[in-house]
Amino acid sequence: MSQIILQPCGNKFAEKHYQDTIANPVPLSKIKPFLDSEIFERLEEFYPEKMVQIWGVNPGTTIANENKWLRIKSGDIVLFSANKRIFSSGIVTDKLHNKNLAKELWGMNDDNQTWEYIYFLKDINEQNIEITEFNQAVGYASNYVIQGFSVLDGEKSAKAIEDLGLIQNMIPLKIYQENLEKKIKHSRNITRQERLNRLGRSNKLPKIIQTMSNQYQRNPDVIVEVLLRANGNCEKCGNPASFMRASDGSPYLEVHHKIFLSEGGEDTVDNAIALCPNCHREVHFG
Ligand SMILES: [Zn+2]
Ligand SMILES: [Zn+2]
Repeated sequence: MSQIILQPCGNKFAEKHYQDTIANPVPLSKIKPFLDSEIFERLEEFYPEKMVQIWGVNPGTTIANENKWLRIKSGDIVLFSANKRIFSSGIVTDKLHNKNLAKELWGMNDDNQTWEYIYFLKDINEQNIEITEFNQAVGYASNYVIQGFSVLDGEKSAKAIEDLGLIQNMIPLKIYQENLEKKIKHSRNITRQERLNRLGRSNKLPKIIQTMSNQYQRNPDVIVEVLLRANGNCEKCGNPASFMRASDGSPYLEVHHKIFLSEGGEDTVDNAIALCPNCHREVHFG
């Protein structure tokens, strides 16, 4: 589930930063020299238009800011506030600790610090939410003042997202899938009659949503080599592929990683195996 990040934005530095790197997105080419290839490639995918919205937090007097920043995840929702209002929101795509990039974008503050705990945003939306409304949603006293950069816990975040209608048109794929699972579970638990009533009231044409997800960038040469090695036969059950690809008539086999990429497996010919769809399903869900 997305967390809510509160980002008060009332002081002179924050106002300027908001203008410089949120209201006016930064060309990806400008920040490229500060990025390693891994994060650069991810950002390229998040920002096909190659303009990036960036925010940064300084270390502060304690390490508290770093610890909060460490909790930020892709898909979190940032709320910018000033003058007792939340005036905009955005979604976190990625984050990066980089002092030099922060200096380049925003310079230094009076304490000789820079805003080195960086996160990248997209889907910046104007909001007009009074702080009292926000306080009520998350269960704070109505006169509570947001004291600085903070990351809300899961429960408060969920309340804020629901009460304030903060779900954006772009949601992380994982969250969408988890929510669907929850709703299916709920649907199983209601009575059949209730379910049929709901069906009677529901929209027949589904709403379109946009999701975002991190993907491994796979090596095409590994795929081609493994398929050549398999020579049309599943490398697990040994059976020939049971159908051909409509696009080019080649045998339909799927290249699977023996040690999953998500578990640190390598994207190499040695760690990959060509499987028929049945065997592929079996190794994942068997
Ligand atoms: Zn097979
Ligand atoms: Zn697989």
